[in-house]
Amino acid sequence: MENIPKNIGDYKLPVDYTKLNGKERKKVRNQYVRLQYNKCMYCGGDLSIDPPTRITDLLIDWSYFPPGFLNNPIQLQHDHSNGMTEGAVHAYCNAVLWQYLRR
Ligand SMILES: [Zn+2]
Repeated sequence: MENIPKNIGDYKLPVDYTKLNGKERKKVRNQYVRLQYNKCMYCGGDLSIDPPTRITDLLIDWSYFPPGFLNNPIQLQHDHSNGMTEGAVHAYCNAVLWQYLRR
């Protein structure tokens, strides 16, 4: 029996984020964006626009994050305990996931 890919794209998800280079991370992120119908995995908001104010009202200590963190508005969330990708999120949601939920 042929292995039927269940995802739209090149990757069988999830994948180990720590083993991907920058180009591959971008492709995986874009695959999640398509699978999620352009909605954020965390807040459910449209990834083409800013996250809702219930997210952006949360205070973030930006010293935890590299400079320019918000310059990439759509990011690939991964589970920091095992490295596996989880989905595409707003940059701000990624910061919330890390700071408040340690994900
Ligand atoms: Zn979001």
